[in-house]
Amino acid sequence: MKPVIALVGRPNVGKSTLFNRMTKSRDAIVADFAGLTRDRHYGDGRLGSREFIVIDTGGFEPDSSTGIVKEMAKQTRQAVAEADVVIFVTDVRTGLSGQDQDIARYLRQCNKRVLLAVNKAEGMSDSPLLGEFYELGMGEPHPVSAAHGQGIRSLLEAALEDF
Ligand code: GDP
Ligand code: MG
Repeated sequence: MKPVIALVGRPNVGKSTLFNRMTKSRDAIVADFAGLTRDRHYGDGRLGSREFIVIDTGGFEPDSSTGIVKEMAKQTRQAVAEADVVIFVTDVRTGLSGQDQDIARYLRQCNKRVLLAVNKAEGMSDSPLLGEFYELGMGEPHPVSAAHGQGIRSLLEAALEDF
């Protein structure tokens, strides 16, 4: 069985861009506005000879209770349930948000291995701005740039180290 990696995070942090980078596909919809990717998307990825499955998700708002947002949260919960490893995606440009804290709280109770990716960090691998992400209590933040392909390999090495 290939390991399954789910990408989880609030809207617009770059999950779909990361999905495309990990799968070298254009399957996920990358939006210039929040919340366009409403369904789960599955893709095949490969790191050297190791193959994996990656699930992209819509933005996750665990406390909202109506309509499409609720459906997106449900899809995300299903993706997490199916996953062996979760990559929690955040955005260094907007910084840490209350929504990130809510998602961290949710993920802590899921008993899944979670890796923290701090996206949009092109050219910022040593930036002090990364420091605040330790507050999420999700371990070491992995700076990545999904758009520029930086830090992806080392994130995937960490995600797949048990497989
Ligand atoms: P999602 O809602 O989490 O799936 O986010 P998207 O992948 O749709 O990306 C949201 C926006 O962030 C788009 O305008 C992307 O081009 C942009 N974006 C994604 N990754 C990066 C990155 O590594 N650096 C920068 N500067 N922008 C990014
Ligand atoms: Mg998306």
